[in-house]
Amino acid sequence: MRSLPRILIVEDEPAIAELIAVNLRHNGFQPIWAMDGETAQKELDDVLPDVILLDWMLPKESGLSLAKKWRGDKRSQAIPILMLTARGDEVDRVAGLDAGADDYVTKPVVPKELSARIRAALRRTQTIEPSISNAKSLNKIGDVEIDRNLSVVRKNGSEVALTKTEYRLLVEFADHPGMVLSRDQLLERVWGYEYLGDSRLVDAHVRRLRVKVETQPEEPTMIVTVRGMGYRLLN
Ligand code: CA
Repeated sequence: MRSLPRILIVEDEPAIAELIAVNLRHNGFQPIWAMDGETAQKELDDVLPDVILLDWMLPKESGLSLAKKWRGDKRSQAIPILMLTARGDEVDRVAGLDAGADDYVTKPVVPKELSARIRAALRRTQTIEPSISNAKSLNKIGDVEIDRNLSVVRKNGSEVALTKTEYRLLVEFADHPGMVLSRDQLLERVWGYEYLGDSRLVDAHVRRLRVKVETQPEEPTMIVTVRGMGYRLLN
């Protein structure tokens, strides 16, 4: 029997953590609760979860700092991080996405939405079969090379550490060179969201991707913004 996906809940408020855990169990996930960063770190050192649900306001080390730390650690860098934020906390949300979160869930948590986002995050971690169907599909963009067999990206020959979502986003661009892709199209194709998505997810991930693959991220020459429309890959 295939084991249930392990979801690490990092949340200091027991009532909220319990509510989420009950909901996850009910939806076929295996929740693990950590009340602070230190406990969460022990869990990560022990067994890697499939998804991390990370609260922002935590005692001692903040969610923001934990996200940065886990993204920087080779062992945990590919695990999807969904941050838990209070509704309306725009600044936190953008900061969280810039720190490496894949998505966010607003509190109070809506059970159906939570499972949908977790399922989508799990789908993004699955290997993309190298496609040969698209004749225009690029594996080389300037000094950046996409190795589709290994799901690895190299810049000037050195491996670039991308999250699964960042990798999928780059592949989506590489499959449509020169084409304008709207934020809605990217949300649907990369995140798997038709109605759930927030275009800031796309903007934050494009920013992160540029930092990793562009020579001058502030003046991108690879993934360019098309005002009012979306983004386009130049090659
Ligand atoms: Ca909290």
